[in-house]
Amino acid sequence: MAVILDGKETARRIREKLKKNIEKLKAKNIFPKLAVIMVGEDPASKIYVKNKSKACEELGVKYEEFLLKEDISQEQLLNLIEELNKRRDIHGILLQSPIPKHLDINEAFKTILPEKDVDGFNPINVGKLVLGQETLISCTPFGVIKLLEEYNIPIEGKNAVVIGRSNIVGKPMLHCLLNKNATVTICHSKTQNLKEITKTADILVVAIGKPKFVTKDMVKPESIIIDVGINRNEEGKVCGDVDFEEVEKVASYITPVPGGIGPMTIAMLMENIVKTAKNGKFC
Ligand code: NAD
Repeated sequence: MAVILDGKETARRIREKLKKNIEKLKAKNIFPKLAVIMVGEDPASKIYVKNKSKACEELGVKYEEFLLKEDISQEQLLNLIEELNKRRDIHGILLQSPIPKHLDINEAFKTILPEKDVDGFNPINVGKLVLGQETLISCTPFGVIKLLEEYNIPIEGKNAVVIGRSNIVGKPMLHCLLNKNATVTICHSKTQNLKEITKTADILVVAIGKPKFVTKDMVKPESIIIDVGINRNEEGKVCGDVDFEEVEKVASYITPVPGGIGPMTIAMLMENIVKTAKNGKFC
């Protein structure tokens, strides 16, 4: 049976450490503050935003929410971001996705000042990640790497396979693993012979959004399985992209859903907000 990679407990320990760093910042009159922009009423986004605000509250990070109407114009959205870019009391800006289709999310991410881009989606920060330079890294892939490191799981030289090529998870995940010297393959909906590829993975990261997609016969025995997916099964319960009950019998390590990458993602957001506040250019 696989060892469970306990993201909830690991994230709690990380938050404890961050709390101390935040106290130190406050002693220097730096009061970290996060601004969160949400457009429309997406129910899942509301839960994510609530979890982020709870983490801020727990750590003593100031928090300001901007709830925009579904029909807001691109110009209004960009104006708000520019206003927040200028505000000296705000260290981090996060635009919760998804946003309505009439808005250009890439343009919005581009407008967030790279130094305040706690989600790591500004093309400058993405470019730095690709070049292997120090930067703000998008929170979910960052959380995956941190969880592996906290469990002393080596990444260097391993065959890593990522399923999913979204801009927010799959692609930055590819570069995070590559920067740690893994040999990385990225798969997506057009990949041929997926199972043949996933069976070569020492580390398999799954981020597609389909319950129980990865089955026992798709994984290499004794491999490390990271399940990023957050879905609802037929009974309405939260589940990942991996058939956990079956795959845990063959893997050496596996993340649960919930309690795996979800809490790590939020802990990394807190890590990023501390980083932006420490850089201190805006307070
Ligand atoms: P997305 O819909 O943007 O991308 C899904 C990716 O999966 C695409 O690249 C697509 O090519 C690939 N895909 C779809 N069907 C496939 C198939 N049959 N075979 C191979 N590849 C396939 O999704 P996303 O935003 O990257 O999110 C993926 C999952 O991760 C979702 O369940 C989401 O809720 C979850 N998520 C979790 C966290 C967290 O904090 N744990 C953060 C972000 C996203």
